[in-house]
Amino acid sequence: MAKIAINIATGSLQQAEMIVGIDLGTTNSLVAIIHPESKQPIALKEHNSSSLVPSIIHFDPLGNPVVGEEAKQYLETDPQNTIFSAKRLMGKSYKDIKENANFFTYKVIDDDTDSLVKVQVGDKFYSPIDLSSFILKELKQRAEHILKTPVTKAVITVPAYFNDAQRQATRDAGKLAGLDVMRIVNEPTAASLAYGLGLRKDEEKTIAVYDLGGGTFDISILHINNGIFEVLSTNGNTYLGGDDLDRTIVQYWMNESGITSDDLNVNKELSQGLRLRAEEAKKHLSSNDSFSVDWNGDTLAITKATFESLLKPLIDQTIASCKSALADAKLTAENIDTIVMVGGSTRVPAVKEAVSAFFGKPVNDSVNPDEVVALGAAVQADILAGNNKDFLLLDITPLSLGIETMGGLMDTLIPRNAKIPTKVGRQYTTHKDGQSDMRISVFQGERDLVKDNRKLAEFSLKGIPGMPAGLPKVEVSFLINADGILVVKAKELRSGVEQEIEVKPQYGLTDDEVEKMLMDSITHAKDDMQTRALVEARTEGEQILSVTEKFVSKNAPLLEKEELMATASAMQALQLALTMDDKDLIHSKIEELNEISRPFAERAMDAAVSGALKGKSITE
Ligand code: ADP
Ligand code: MG
Repeated sequence: MAKIAINIATGSLQQAEMIVGIDLGTTNSLVAIIHPESKQPIALKEHNSSSLVPSIIHFDPLGNPVVGEEAKQYLETDPQNTIFSAKRLMGKSYKDIKENANFFTYKVIDDDTDSLVKVQVGDKFYSPIDLSSFILKELKQRAEHILKTPVTKAVITVPAYFNDAQRQATRDAGKLAGLDVMRIVNEPTAASLAYGLGLRKDEEKTIAVYDLGGGTFDISILHINNGIFEVLSTNGNTYLGGDDLDRTIVQYWMNESGITSDDLNVNKELSQGLRLRAEEAKKHLSSNDSFSVDWNGDTLAITKATFESLLKPLIDQTIASCKSALADAKLTAENIDTIVMVGGSTRVPAVKEAVSAFFGKPVNDSVNPDEVVALGAAVQADILAGNNKDFLLLDITPLSLGIETMGGLMDTLIPRNAKIPTKVGRQYTTHKDGQSDMRISVFQGERDLVKDNRKLAEFSLKGIPGMPAGLPKVEVSFLINADGILVVKAKELRSGVEQEIEVKPQYGLTDDEVEKMLMDSITHAKDDMQTRALVEARTEGEQILSVTEKFVSKNAPLLEKEELMATASAMQALQLALTMDDKDLIHSKIEELNEISRPFAERAMDAAVSGALKGKSITE
């Protein structure tokens, strides 16, 4: 048996590599991997520091960007040069964000057109893609520093509601940062994966993913079946999150101490200090009943009970979104099997309680909520890298798989979107007398001609015993097993000679490439259909000519002279039709020849020869 490990997408030989998972968040971003020994997902962090990198970029007076914790210090003191929430600008035009223009403390260019927004810092202009690429570059460098190895491949997560432009922008940001983006994954899907949901192929579940982050709230209802994640509905509020909880505390302290908004506007350090203390208080109250701190000789204090009364309206808003999401999915709370909590703000006990009360069951919160998305991205990355042999590939086959038949046609055995594992077999035959070798060329793609698809592998079935064309029965079978490995087998059924090849599916094909191939197949569908019909007509015509010729030369004594003459002229007419691009003409000439030859063919033609008129044959 020939065993060759081939990359199903690129045709190159397979090699091991590390693909990282990246959560590119509005507030915080991080990188996770599957630990090579423990096989568990872990978030990468430098010694004694957090795994979270604030998604903030500060530009120094020379225009050099600094990302993360260091940049965060400048939020209030140097707001024009400190870019936060760049993710909100991804794939957006100024018109899209006009309503929320006040939210941004830095300069978002307003040219009042449909063109994509840019951010101005000093005399330089940055696209949201540029800004996101700075964050991704920082993450890449951190990962390389921690892992002591180059990191070039990543899976990046995006909100489920991101449209194509936003996904493309995220991909481009990755490319700019020097990352090969293997796949864009929905955040709720990644979070579910981190909980191991959807990894078993026989599992069917409906999941609610409640994600309350720093500045955004998302609720997604997913249906998982056979390892396939389907987003049933999404809802949320792109301007509601932990920052709003902080603001309620700042407001409370201002009321208590008589500090006014004007004071904060004048004194940025004061405003920054209050906000940081408020966030500290909020986090403290997630596991304590009260908070107090000395601040400039004053005491800033708040109890958990007070905080909970302040945040109640915000939580109620998120529950209203959950209701809408369920309604859109045409489900009720009882239909939800599992609730997954995502985002740092779900650490607030009152949030968990409200969500659990609404859905009527306990929530899943055992995985660190601000790492869970990145951890799930790492799980997905590991599966893509082909390391995770215990699990089914999460995807259905992205493109059709088939072999080349006569005339360069693609004969699809496994259609795109087929669920795996799967097995399909089909019979073929030879097209020349005494043909001893048959070439099996495996292709991937949606086009009707193999030249427009991607060749994955090729092998020859050798040693077919000499038989007239059309007599050998070669069964070609495609099997994709649970590991996602495609095994192509060819067996001549009369003689038993067989040959097989293994094609390893490693997804070197990016989503873009898959998409492009699909788009091409749609654009060319009509052309392809016409070409296919013509090629098929020609192949059929040629086969009939050769069979008739053989028959006539073998059985000439049995035929009447008129029959011979009529046959010869019908063959000539068909021969001529084959040189023209007109399938209808070919068909009519085939019909005419058949009409003439039918009476004597029926008289003498044996089953073997009539067999040659049926079925597909493969080029030698
Ligand atoms: P994003 O997905 O928007 O990037 P994260 O999931 O990282 O955001 O969530 C960040 C938010 O979580 C911040 O508002 C932060 O203050 C909040 N947060 C983090 N830890 C806690 C905690 N222990 N209690 C309450 N809120 C928290
Ligand atoms: Mg997030």
